[in-house]
Amino acid sequence: MRNSGQSGGIWPGILHPDVKTVFMRNFFMQTFSWLEICADNQRFYNETAELQLTHYKEKKHGFFTDTPHINAQPVHMIFDEVTRENNCLVVKAFTWNIATEEFEWSDDNSVEVEKGWILKANTIAELAVKMGRDPVAVEATVAKYNADCARGEDEFGRHPVTLQPINQGPFYALKIVPAVVCTSGGGKRNMEGEVFSTSGTTIPRLYEAGECGSMFSHLYQNGCYLTEAMISGRAAAKSALAQKAWD
Ligand SMILES: Cc1cc2nc3c(=O)[nH]c(=O)nc-3n(C[C@H](O)[C@H](O)[C@H](O)COP(=O)(O)OP(=O)(O)OC[C@H]3O[C@@H](n4cnc5c(N)ncnc54)[C@H](O)[C@@H]3O)c2cc1C
Repeated sequence: MRNSGQSGGIWPGILHPDVKTVFMRNFFMQTFSWLEICADNQRFYNETAELQLTHYKEKKHGFFTDTPHINAQPVHMIFDEVTRENNCLVVKAFTWNIATEEFEWSDDNSVEVEKGWILKANTIAELAVKMGRDPVAVEATVAKYNADCARGEDEFGRHPVTLQPINQGPFYALKIVPAVVCTSGGGKRNMEGEVFSTSGTTIPRLYEAGECGSMFSHLYQNGCYLTEAMISGRAAAKSALAQKAWD
């Protein structure tokens, strides 16, 4: 195997029954009256850290690791009217839904609220019930966050500028799912796309290309994956076409 595989970062994604694949949550938010809670109704990381700059990897003990979303599900983003009104919650530049399906997401998210994709309630407790969560616990988490905003100190190290309380109703919630831009790993291959066996010889008629067996499989290398997909795809196809038919 070539390394053990990696994710390319766990990007916060938004998935709904009416769409095929995820939307990517906007990573350039203009307001910060929002937070995320995990399975136990607690916050679990610094939501406003600029993780898009490190491909959604956090540096811990000298190593880049995935954000904890994958082990924290279900995750909900909770926000207030200020954040709803001033941010389009999805990135409009890419994802299959936007780029290929030409899906429009409203700039103020009002259409998605109307559709029921975004949960809406007049109180945090009411919102918690709609999320299927314990209202007392969710209220306590939001109240603690708001108190930390007032103190200007956050337990997860959010920058003080991003400590904006969630206090302008109505309130909203959105399920956040792990979204990845690549997953790599797999069998080691040579320049011709031939896959090696564990004994180090190539396996006849077995080829790999792209993310499968990628040479960057230990850590996402921004920009290299598309190039590798094209180069290795051509190489594997050329090798396969040079083979004689089975019979
Ligand atoms: C939002 C986003 C942004 C990205 N940005 C960049 C970037 O800026 N630069 C960069 O280099 N890389 C980027 N990447 C990563 C890059 O796009 C991928 O690494 C690359 O496209 C992988 O190519 P691939 O051919 O290995 O796999 P894929 O493109 O995933 O192709 C696999 C194909 O196999 C098909 N398939 C699956 N199962 C079957 C089956 N059973 N039978 C038949 N067909 C099947 C799939 O439909 C798919 O078409 C980005 C990815 C995403 C999602």
